[in-house]
Amino acid sequence: MEEALILDLIKRDGPMPVERFMALALQRYYGKGTAFGRSGDFTTAPEISQVFGELIGAWCCLVWDGMGRPSTFRLVELGPGRGTLMADLLRAARVMPGFLQAAKLHLVEISDSLRRQQAERLAGITPAWHDSLEEVPEDLPQIVVGNEFLDALPIRQYVRQNDEWRERLVGIGQDGGLAFMVADKADGAPPLPAYAETPGDGAIAECCPQAHELVAELARRFRQRPGAALFIDYGPMKSAAGDSLQAVKDHVFCKVLEHPGDADLTAHVDFQALSQSARRRGLAAYGPVPQGIWLQRMGILERTALLKAAALPGQAELLSSGSRRLIEPQEMGTLFKALAMTSAGLPAPMGFEDI
Ligand code: SAH
Repeated sequence: MEEALILDLIKRDGPMPVERFMALALQRYYGKGTAFGRSGDFTTAPEISQVFGELIGAWCCLVWDGMGRPSTFRLVELGPGRGTLMADLLRAARVMPGFLQAAKLHLVEISDSLRRQQAERLAGITPAWHDSLEEVPEDLPQIVVGNEFLDALPIRQYVRQNDEWRERLVGIGQDGGLAFMVADKADGAPPLPAYAETPGDGAIAECCPQAHELVAELARRFRQRPGAALFIDYGPMKSAAGDSLQAVKDHVFCKVLEHPGDADLTAHVDFQALSQSARRRGLAAYGPVPQGIWLQRMGILERTALLKAAALPGQAELLSSGSRRLIEPQEMGTLFKALAMTSAGLPAPMGFEDI
C-alpha cells in the first residue's frame, strides 16, 4: 500500500531525496502506532525499565532547581511513544516539592494513534499535544526531553562521485520496485560536517536538517528564558561518514526500501554536529556521554537496588535484567548516548558535570 503510493509519487515527480522517502515512510509507520514493545518492532529504554524514566525525572527536578525553581515552567517531551517515560518521570518527580505544581505538560507527537495511547497512559493529567516544538508557547522557562526522537527525524544522504557530493535519491529500479540512485549533478554545497572534505569515490555522508532546525529553535527559546534539553539516542561519539539508515521490522533488520510504512526507519544521530550547532547559537552543550555511564552517574544501580528490596522475586529479576540491558556496553550502554543543551549560565546538569 505505502510502496504503491511512493511509486506513484516517483512516477509523477521523479526520484525523491532519501529525506522525503524517510519522512513519508515514517509518517505512515508511526501513524499506525503499533511500533513499540514485545509485540511491536522494537523496544525502547523506557519500555525496558521504569528506572529509565524515573532517572530522567530526577534530572528534570535538578535542572528546575538549578533554574531557581521557577513557579511555572513548560515540561516538554518530544516523541513520547506510549507515554511510558513521562508516566515514570512524573511519578519520580513527586519527591521534589513544588515541581509538579509548577510544571505545565506539553507533548510533541505527530501520530494520532500514539497520542491516544499517551492520553490513556497519562489518565488524570491533562497535557497539551502539539505537532511541533514551534507550537509550544515560549512565554516560560522550558525543560525538554526526547528519547529516540532525533533518530526518527529524516536525513539527507550524499554519495561522493567525481570529487563532488551528489544527493542520494529513491527512484524506480529495473525490476519496477524502489531503488537507490544518485542525482545527476551536485546541487550546491551540501550541509555536511568537516569529515566530508576528502572522502573516496562512493563514500556516503549524511545530515539531518530537521535536527539542526530543532536545535536552532531551542537556542532561540533558551536565549530568551531559562531552558534545558536532554536527548538520549544512538550514534557515534564523533561525526563520521557512512550510511547509517536502517530498517527494523518485528525486532529484525530488513532492507531499507523493502517495507516502507511497515518497518521502523532510523539513522544515527550526529551528536557532535548538534552540540557544535548548539554552541554556535550561544547555548552550553554537554556530552555526548554513553548511556551506561550517564545512567550510573544518575544512580541507576542504587535506584534498582532500592526497588528490588521491595519487589517480589520475579519482579526483582526483571529489574536487574532491565538495568543491565540499559547500561552494559554490549547492550544499550555504549551505542546510546546522552546529550544536553542549556541556556548559558545555568549549572552543568547532572551526569555531565566533568565533560
Ligand atoms: N520516546 C519514545 C518513542 C520513541 S519513537 C520511547 O522512547 O519509547 C519516536 C517517537 O517520536 C514516536 O512517538 C513518534 O510518533 C514520534 N515522532 C517521530 N517523528 C516525529 C516528528 N517529526 N514530530 C513529532 N513526533 C515525532
